Amino acid sequence: MKAYEELKNYLKEIKYLEDISCLLYWDQDVNMPEGNTDYRNEQFEYVSNKIDEMNRSPKYKKLLEKVLNLKKLGVGDKLNIQYLLDDFNDLAKMPPELSKAETKYMVKGLDLWQKAKESNSKEDIEKYKENLQHLIDIKRKQAACYDMKPYDYCLDAFDEGATTEKLDTFFTELKEGLMNILKDINTGGELKPTRKVKEADLEINAKMIAEKLGADSSWLKFGKTVHPYQITLGPSDKRIAMNEEPMYDFLHTLAHEIGHARYEHTMSIMGGDLPGTAKSSIYSFALHESQSLFFENHIVKNDAFINSLGSDSFKEILRHNNSVLRPSITRLESDELTYQLHIIIRYEIEKMLLAGEISLDDVRNVWANKYEKTFGLYPEKESEGWLQDCHWSDGSFGYFPCYTIGHAIAAQLRAKMGDIGYEDQIRWLVTNFQLHASMYTTDKLMKITTGESLNAKYLISHLRKRFVK
Ligand SMILES: [Zn+2]
Repeated sequence: MKAYEELKNYLKEIKYLEDISCLLYWDQDVNMPEGNTDYRNEQFEYVSNKIDEMNRSPKYKKLLEKVLNLKKLGVGDKLNIQYLLDDFNDLAKMPPELSKAETKYMVKGLDLWQKAKESNSKEDIEKYKENLQHLIDIKRKQAACYDMKPYDYCLDAFDEGATTEKLDTFFTELKEGLMNILKDINTGGELKPTRKVKEADLEINAKMIAEKLGADSSWLKFGKTVHPYQITLGPSDKRIAMNEEPMYDFLHTLAHEIGHARYEHTMSIMGGDLPGTAKSSIYSFALHESQSLFFENHIVKNDAFINSLGSDSFKEILRHNNSVLRPSITRLESDELTYQLHIIIRYEIEKMLLAGEISLDDVRNVWANKYEKTFGLYPEKESEGWLQDCHWSDGSFGYFPCYTIGHAIAAQLRAKMGDIGYEDQIRWLVTNFQLHASMYTTDKLMKITTGESLNAKYLISHLRKRFVK
């Protein structure tokens, strides 16, 4: 089993570099002085290129083939190594120059987007657009290596097997269902304000809620940021970055990020002594989002969970706000129902942009017109419109649909669970879903877990129940 040990060490080395790359990101966002940005970008590029070299090395391929032929290899390991070999052969179809070029523009994107969003100046926006155009051109070249349509290539990268054809059907059914619900809503009521969570109390509140949700402070740490997220730096090191928000939003954002962290924690355990293999990798970001959205929309909006929190007036506000419609020009400030319309707009624009039907110069107006038509709200500044999200800055076209698919998965899983309490729901998720989620595509996993393909009907009926009184 010498080859097995060698492969284990090789995979560990790749994992170290990936974790270091995440650590660089976390540090840049939470701690680093702004003046170091260019040097940090160089460090990112260096580490990313090293990872790419290791993933393409002939030595790695030989090791995989050797281990795959070992007689003593168990069935699970065999499957895992085969996945890695398939990944290797897939990556080999794309020239390394394309990976390098993508990294070069990816690392610059975040800083350029932040500057453009902050200043709204023509000069900063043009610089951001120039970088973005490079990323779009690279995506098209990458897609050509696999003989795929550019947007299908982007969708598949985040949710294997997703195509525009499948999503067109899914979003059409969903949009019709959402519009019908909107017609039937007669009263949503006003959103009741909750106090803002101050920076000083941020960690105390976060820790208290995390414990209720079964997240252990021995592997969880918090930090402060502008745009909340969760990131994994090691098997027992999951970080959550939060910002100052009204308590109502804070609770839901935190529940969302804890959902991600708990799923990543399960995957770390699953990885065992072969880190970085299929068992411990993210197969689909739609599945990943479904876990965070389950916590955000089902666990912490559950009556029993609300009853375990704070004063009676606070509980009353939480219950009330959960079913208030609040259409907004900003995706992150919208309610659970109109949120899906924000995603559908992004999906439609990404699809046109990657197909070359519109150019980057058109996006501002196309975006604004769709918002006016859908919500009656017109973004006055570009930062309120197409610049509001960070996703495109590093070329993550095709990620947005994962959110709505994640909402649909969460609703379908909730329906399957039947009448059980929120603690049992969390246990159900780990046992019946998370332990298998890294081995199957979204559709296959949904069939195994719920007995039917992913579809929009459970999300539609969940939203109808929540918003129509
Ligand atoms: Zn998320």
